[in-house]
Amino acid sequence: MEINPYDVATKQIEIVAKELGLDRNTTEYLKRIERALIVSIPITMDNGTVQIFEGYRVHHSTVRGPGKGGIRFSPDVNLDEVKALATWMTWKSSLLNLPLGGAKGGVRVDPRKLSMKELERLTRRYTAEIINIIGPDIDIPAPDVNTNAQVMAWIMDVYSMQKGRSIPGVVTGKPIEIGGSVGREPATGMGLYFVLKALCEKLDCKLKDQSIVIQGFGNVGGTIAELLYKDGCKILAVSDISTGIYCKDGLDIEKLLEYVKKGKYLKDYPNDNYKHISNDELLTSKCDVLIPAAIENQITEKNADKIDCKIVLEGANGPTTPEADNILFSKGIKVVPDILANSGGVCVSYFEYIQDIHSYFWKLERINQELERIILEAFEETYRISVERNISLRTAAYIIAVERVAKAIKLRGFFP
Ligand code: NAD
Repeated sequence: MEINPYDVATKQIEIVAKELGLDRNTTEYLKRIERALIVSIPITMDNGTVQIFEGYRVHHSTVRGPGKGGIRFSPDVNLDEVKALATWMTWKSSLLNLPLGGAKGGVRVDPRKLSMKELERLTRRYTAEIINIIGPDIDIPAPDVNTNAQVMAWIMDVYSMQKGRSIPGVVTGKPIEIGGSVGREPATGMGLYFVLKALCEKLDCKLKDQSIVIQGFGNVGGTIAELLYKDGCKILAVSDISTGIYCKDGLDIEKLLEYVKKGKYLKDYPNDNYKHISNDELLTSKCDVLIPAAIENQITEKNADKIDCKIVLEGANGPTTPEADNILFSKGIKVVPDILANSGGVCVSYFEYIQDIHSYFWKLERINQELERIILEAFEETYRISVERNISLRTAAYIIAVERVAKAIKLRGFFP
């Protein structure tokens, strides 16, 4: 049976509510989303026919600030997935103590089957459909799976045209020329890198000696692969949607990145020394650090027992189910949860948003310094709680994040 990510998200809230002794009303409220919009997006295709796609935008919580979260274009997107992703965004913003809430959006479409013009029409019409529930002080979208800076530029343009003035603060992850921030594109990978380095120090091991396996070779997986490769780590395997590739002596990440950046798939990469492996083989390959950086529900009770690493660093959102979490914890594997590990993206998105509002732009050095400071503060606090209470890093991170949101709800009270 398919695992429903929203069931996973609500189960995680129940676990931490018990740990925190949260009252029933707050717990039940946190398990719900504030609002969801389902839209139909009719698009005239290049051949003159009309296709109608379904899109979503969900606000899980805006109690601590405007909603924040990406937009994904994928044939598997559905309302429950977007609800789960919006919920995880609430915890991520809260864990970093950013004045933002949690939101997410998506369109059920396979963008590989669209021309550039069709993709632009789809993005523009989707934006027009959700325009009333986004905005710099309402909800600020960003890129996610299969969306990028160009898609954000189209969203910003539709919103600005509607309002009659340029409003860059409506989205983050934009091109730098129209109010984007330096350092935003690699920010999620950069955050993963800072956290992994700090964890290695705690565990008394050298980062450069770690062998690495990465699922997903897009923005997040590609960036962390490059940073670790440059540091001297051996990257044993990477994968994209087409295949996984493995080499016991390590892959040449620079050449692979050059190849996929041309829009090509790993299955066509010409190198006889690289073995093609399945998703499951990749996830269960022996390594020091496993980085799931593709989609949800990849480490489940079916394969958790076979996971053979010291650290799981969650680049993707929701890659591990709660059942798998228990198995990994009992095996002594440290799982750095998504809401901490991949929070570099929302952190630099927040910097982009501030820069847009102030019309004053920072240097890359400042971006990376502030990112490192904020993400490591959250890491230290999470690590401390996990050691003190002998609980997983995930439960510790959730304790911090959920407690902050619960306090905000209590202080504001229920209206009316
Ligand atoms: P992306 O589209 O740039 O890359 C996704 C990668 O995963 C690609 O290599 C793709 O081929 C692969 N992939 C997709 N479906 C797959 C499948 N079914 N099996 C195996 N591989 C598959 O996306 P991204 O921005 O790198 O996002 C990856 C993950 O990181 C997502 O879970 C996303 O929510 C999360 N995330 C992204 C950011 C960000 O700033 N981009 C921030 C936080 C979290």
